[in-house]
Amino acid sequence: MAMSGTSGSIEVVCGPMFSGKTEELIRRLKRAQIARQKVQIFKPAIDNRYHDTEVVSHSSLSISAMPVNTSIEILQKVFDSTRVVGIDEVQFFDDNISLVVEKLARRGIRVILSGLDQDFMGKPFGPMANLLAIADQVDKIQAICTVCGAAASKTFRKNPKHTEQVLVGETDLYEARCRAHADFFGEDDDQLAFFVNFNESRSKTQNL
Ligand SMILES: [Zn+2]
Repeated sequence: MAMSGTSGSIEVVCGPMFSGKTEELIRRLKRAQIARQKVQIFKPAIDNRYHDTEVVSHSSLSISAMPVNTSIEILQKVFDSTRVVGIDEVQFFDDNISLVVEKLARRGIRVILSGLDQDFMGKPFGPMANLLAIADQVDKIQAICTVCGAAASKTFRKNPKHTEQVLVGETDLYEARCRAHADFFGEDDDQLAFFVNFNESRSKTQNL
């Protein structure tokens, strides 16, 4: 039950791998704990890279988290007294995650999400496009391009033979890249078809 005078909110911290998203999530959650607000943290059960019940960042900051298999499980597990809900690796959740976080915010809860905005092809990752749209606040943070040292907003998969969207790994599989150094695959079929049509219609107009 929301107390009068309090309103919920949805914050998203997104960016490529190695950008410090999880550190930022943990920083916000620890500040809420210092303010004596009841905090609960969830993560998808798929992400067991470091430790089963902890959210651990690359810089080894950690905070206890509850692994869940579906987004609806989060609703079932949030206590009435909880004021802040953190969700890490939110890109791995099903599309219902948007409904779940809006429900929590309506209950007066501050919801803080952390996740990859783009997959290794530079496309919106799972439910992220929706979450970014419904959020009250979005922080898109950048890593450093491993090739040129510029700001990096892309996650580059080193072995292009793996084409599935979800392939959990670390520096063995991925590195952060700037836009120029992530354009490994070129334009995909949809993009090529779009620009073929565009070029045809442009040459027709120009021949009038
Ligand atoms: Zn670069």
